[in-house]
Amino acid sequence: MAVTVFSDKCKGISNCSYDGICVKVCAMGAIEIKDDFPSINESACSQCGLCVLNCPNEALSKN
Ligand code: SF4
Ligand code: SF4
Repeated sequence: MAVTVFSDKCKGISNCSYDGICVKVCAMGAIEIKDDFPSINESACSQCGLCVLNCPNEALSKN
């Protein structure tokens, strides 16, 4: 299980209509920003799914 970021759907945090909400909702601090895109630190991620639920572009997937 891991959270995947689809860079074709996420246009970057600076272009996110929710102002990078995925980073803000992660209580584990598991989403880092790399070159304006969210990057999941799998060892810190608890698989809670909040980032997936809150992304306005369906750019995150838990699989
Ligand atoms: S699934 Fe939860 S813990 Fe993992 S990156 Fe998303 S918000 Fe953070
Ligand atoms: S909430 Fe979605 S669209 Fe916004 S920065 Fe995060 S992954 Fe990209």
